[in-house]
Amino acid sequence: MSTYQEKAKECKCCGKHVPLPTVLREYEGITVCPTTFSNIIEYKRIWTSLGSRPNGSIRKHFSEFVQQIVEDSNAK
Ligand SMILES: [Zn+2]
Repeated sequence: MSTYQEKAKECKCCGKHVPLPTVLREYEGITVCPTTFSNIIEYKRIWTSLGSRPNGSIRKHFSEFVQQIVEDSNAK
């Protein structure tokens, strides 16, 4: 198993990615791939601009994993 495969396992969504990420990011102590990281930032931005949880037509573009991380973040 390559170093990249080992590292990718730290992001909970990465089993589904091809190709695997070669660099990981960290959001509030959670290790995620760059794709998830970008989606977290975008989902959080939308949530903040709306002032409430985005509706389903927006949420469907974001994984359960991304939504959960932002919800946990907003609950702090
Ligand atoms: Zn990932």
